[in-house]
Amino acid sequence: ATFSISKIQNIAKNFAIEGDIESAKPFGSGHINDTIFIKNAETNSPDYLLQRINHHIFRDVEGVVVNIARVSAHLDHKLNGEFKTENGVERVLTLIPTLKGSLFFKDEDGNFWRMYHFIEDSVSYDLVSSAKQAYEGGEAFGRFQRMLADMDATLLTETLPNFHNIKFRLNNFYQALADDVKGRVKEIPEEIELIKSYEEFMCSLYEMGQAGKLPTRITHNDTKFNNILFDKNDRVICIIDLDTVMPGYVAYDFGDAIRSLVNTAEEDEADISKINVNMSLFKAYTEGYLKEAGNFLTPEEVESLYLAVFLFPYMQGIRFLTDYLQGDTYYKTAYPTHNLVRTRSQFQLFKKLWSHKSEIKSIIEAEQKVASA
Ligand code: ADP
Ligand code: MG
Ligand code: MG
Repeated sequence: ATFSISKIQNIAKNFAIEGDIESAKPFGSGHINDTIFIKNAETNSPDYLLQRINHHIFRDVEGVVVNIARVSAHLDHKLNGEFKTENGVERVLTLIPTLKGSLFFKDEDGNFWRMYHFIEDSVSYDLVSSAKQAYEGGEAFGRFQRMLADMDATLLTETLPNFHNIKFRLNNFYQALADDVKGRVKEIPEEIELIKSYEEFMCSLYEMGQAGKLPTRITHNDTKFNNILFDKNDRVICIIDLDTVMPGYVAYDFGDAIRSLVNTAEEDEADISKINVNMSLFKAYTEGYLKEAGNFLTPEEVESLYLAVFLFPYMQGIRFLTDYLQGDTYYKTAYPTHNLVRTRSQFQLFKKLWSHKSEIKSIIEAEQKVASA
């Protein structure tokens, strides 16, 4: 969506920002929110980033921004304390409140807006091009979890209930299968077979959690690479996009990061022969991640990382397939079988990962030994 400068000006003047707006333009490549860069007319005043929150996905906007503010405050405290480094480039995402002291502004069209300080001289990558970057990314998400490891997870709202709950996703799938509203069930016998045959294995992470073997911690829940801001020298400045910070299991962040990182093809690649697993990126990410997280994770949590590697492509495939059966109401599709193609692509990624499973296990174990030595 595009917005006129006068519209942006009318929104922005409700926030406690300094200076005047010189210009406003769409920014970044996020898929969820609309992001607008606001250039300050005063050279000595900061620039800002205005975002329209996607309230169709995030129904509890207040819960989302309060979660972000609480997590940012905790991170800020850490960076000024035990995590402080000389000449450190690390920064925290800062929400700017409205003049009335609210963390968001609701406009007359029913849209929700929030304002951040713009983090200068940063870049984010949609695709990972080197093992070095993968390592840095793993380290960044591991460090993020480490800084939040002593924060009480019950302080946060579960803004997207059951987001990574495989039982919930399976239930939705079986319901869609029974309803078969589009008559598409007949097209997917192999996919149904795959889902059923791995179901027990895939539920094991969830069962560990239910049995009290995994602590509920604070997790990011959208560990895509473009949610890390780097400086010019590829040092991590900041983890951004905290919309989905919630109570969760650490393995969720690991599994979802790996899912997009190691895939040699696009998420919706139709030619499944192009889908392979880049194991050197897997190794590098795991090394960086465990260097930071290895020391506070419990042995069961380390074990759960392995399960999450397979769970995430499987679960994402199920979500695409459920949407396909329901008539493509959730994900945006560019052609009629788009969700089916995405499903097959995720399941192919899962199969490829499965073929590397002993290597995946031994890499996690070896890196954990190094990290805890
Ligand atoms: P989405 O949920 O749509 O992905 P993000 O919060 O990730 O939204 O923002 C979209 C993009 O805007 C990011 O990928 C990043 O490039 C940029 N961005 C977000 N927050 C900041 C910030 N505080 N400073 C600089 N750039 C940012
Ligand atoms: Mg993002
Ligand atoms: Mg987001």
